[in-house]
Amino acid sequence: MAPATWCPSGEARAPESVVLGVRSGSDGQVVYLADPVPASEVLGTLPQGIEPTRVLRFASHCVSACANRRGDDCSLVERVLTLPSATADTRAVPRCHLRARCQWWQQSGVAACHRCPAVTTATFREDELATLVADPSTTPEQLAAWIADSA
Ligand code: SF4
Repeated sequence: MAPATWCPSGEARAPESVVLGVRSGSDGQVVYLADPVPASEVLGTLPQGIEPTRVLRFASHCVSACANRRGDDCSLVERVLTLPSATADTRAVPRCHLRARCQWWQQSGVAACHRCPAVTTATFREDELATLVADPSTTPEQLAAWIADSA
């Protein structure tokens, strides 16, 4: 049976994976594709040695074994919501092919979409704030304190 929702910070190499968007510009924000492209069609075209998540974002099935899973909820998006919004417009959301099946949208609506373009899976291992966001043991309070300390 197909899962109820998809993860917008998903696996590149899951069988069902699709490209969600491309990291673009000097700030690396994600620009979303108009239509899903199977990840299997693009992985072989990337230069050797380039981690796919460094240049692309992927969507794949939400799975019950995910470390971020808490019941039917995703704890990752709760941490993502502590990041500053990427836009001052509180109504507009990016054009995004995943919306109808996106776990973050179903769970948090426009607030998730306003932060989603800044989520970069590959840098989670290298950037202190991103590492905290990615860590399932990090609380929203810890993130808020980190952001306040570095302001
Ligand atoms: S959070 Fe919003 S912008 Fe990001 S993948 Fe889901 S629907 Fe698309």
